[in-house]
Amino acid sequence: MGINKVQFQKGLSMAAFMERYGTEEKCHAAVVALRWPNGFVCPECGGTRHCTFESKGLHYWQCSACREQTTVMCGTILQATKLPLTTWFLGMHLLTQAKNNVSALELKRHPGVRYKTAWLLKHKLMHVMSEREASRQLDGRVEIDDAYLGGELPGGKSGRGSENKVSFIAAVQTTDNGHPLFVCLKKLEFTKKAIAAWAKTSLAASARVVSDGLWCFTAVTDAGAVHERTVTGGGAASAKMEQFTACPPAASSTARRDSRDATRNFQATASKVGIRRCKHSAGRFFA
Ligand SMILES: [Zn+2]
Repeated sequence: MGINKVQFQKGLSMAAFMERYGTEEKCHAAVVALRWPNGFVCPECGGTRHCTFESKGLHYWQCSACREQTTVMCGTILQATKLPLTTWFLGMHLLTQAKNNVSALELKRHPGVRYKTAWLLKHKLMHVMSEREASRQLDGRVEIDDAYLGGELPGGKSGRGSENKVSFIAAVQTTDNGHPLFVCLKKLEFTKKAIAAWAKTSLAASARVVSDGLWCFTAVTDAGAVHERTVTGGGAASAKMEQFTACPPAASSTARRDSRDATRNFQATASKVGIRRCKHSAGRFFA
């Protein structure tokens, strides 16, 4: 059986993490290097000349021009925190390395903090991750599809039109060979108006969108994107259509192999974010 490259991709081991970020000094140095990679820059006036001093266990920078005193954590989610930086860093590591998310309860056990602290830590980190991604626009080749989460209540219709599921759009930016680069998931109703609004914030005008025949997807052109729409019908065969494998008609065997990898990678990516392809329909995703 072949190895799934997405699932087997190299991560940062706990041993390597502790080696890099196991002490307050190492974490502090990492924040300084990230915030001021070319040396101190005053957040007030942009000046670079400064002196430093310690007060109440904190390291301060004082701008020589405007006399502003600041720590490296001012203006970040770390500002005024009472938690050690090692706890923040461990929280970031656990939250970003786990395949299936980390509960606040699990986050409480590893650094040994109270549940409420772990819950706040998790939500603050998720909030800044969400803010960071909010401005990202998918560009180049983008596969989109309708997806559905939930459905624990018995009865009702399955898939699209289900009363029990939450509908959202799943969009994946890929290379021309179909390798996934970025995933965007957004809860929305499948109407032309909602798709047009989503496209304006989440798609670059130069994006090339590939989708099945769901009528409302045509609204992505409102954002300037090119839309390649393919009516698939149902059945497993439609999942193998060239339009969804990013493989040109006269593809070489290498490209065809890349294409199969791309399909598997896309499915793995979808699986990683908690979505699986419904085996009865090529274009649908269900949780
Ligand atoms: Zn200044």
